[in-house]
Amino acid sequence: MNIILLGPPGAGKGTQARRLVEDRGMVQLSTGDMLRAARSSGTEMGRRVAAIMDAGELVTDEIVIGLIEEQLQTSRGGGFIFDGFPRTLGQADALGDLLAANGAMLDAVIEMQVDDAALVARIVARSTCGDCGEVYNDQTKPIPADGRCTNCGGATFNRRADDNADALTTRLMEYYKKTSPLLGYYYAKGDLVSVDGLGEIETVAGAIAEALAARS
Ligand code: AMP
Repeated sequence: MNIILLGPPGAGKGTQARRLVEDRGMVQLSTGDMLRAARSSGTEMGRRVAAIMDAGELVTDEIVIGLIEEQLQTSRGGGFIFDGFPRTLGQADALGDLLAANGAMLDAVIEMQVDDAALVARIVARSTCGDCGEVYNDQTKPIPADGRCTNCGGATFNRRADDNADALTTRLMEYYKKTSPLLGYYYAKGDLVSVDGLGEIETVAGAIAEALAARS
């Protein structure tokens, strides 16, 4: 199956994508992760997008479509999870074309619904394991006292440069202006399924599994 996880920053797309990778052998394609990797490896493109990402704005369609195109040509597995892509109508059209050109199709678009107050609370308290990406929260799931990741034992934890109140306001605004129209776009195509993203990780994972079972 090929699916999109759609939702505002902090909705839990990355967390649920990692679950689907573990449970179903799917391949997670996160344009945010790809862009962060380009930044830390110091590529020309990474340097160009750094300031845009830190401000919470969207990078150009051309760049992210290029990243996805490359991955679709090289990655193999039990279907793709598009995480944080598409984020504009132009990207959504391009994804449809790229999948069709590869003889593939989209099976479902899962909207993860979380209200804005919860998003802000989640994001400003968020840190992740530098090795496996496990997500921690200062209030609800603090980094263990021994300083070791509960998932992989790693000892490095990162806070994202754009996980601050200023950048978050811009990221939310970008979501509502440019990404939320995709809800109507995929609804009209009959691909949209909405799940409540506010519950426990297990509960949300269960709702996603149910939604996928109904579509397979
Ligand atoms: P994320 O990790 O998905 O929250 O993405 C972090 C940042 O990377 C975003 O705030 C954007 O600056 C950039 N980014 C990630 N994916 C996209 C995309 N599909 N289109 C444009 N910009 C993106």
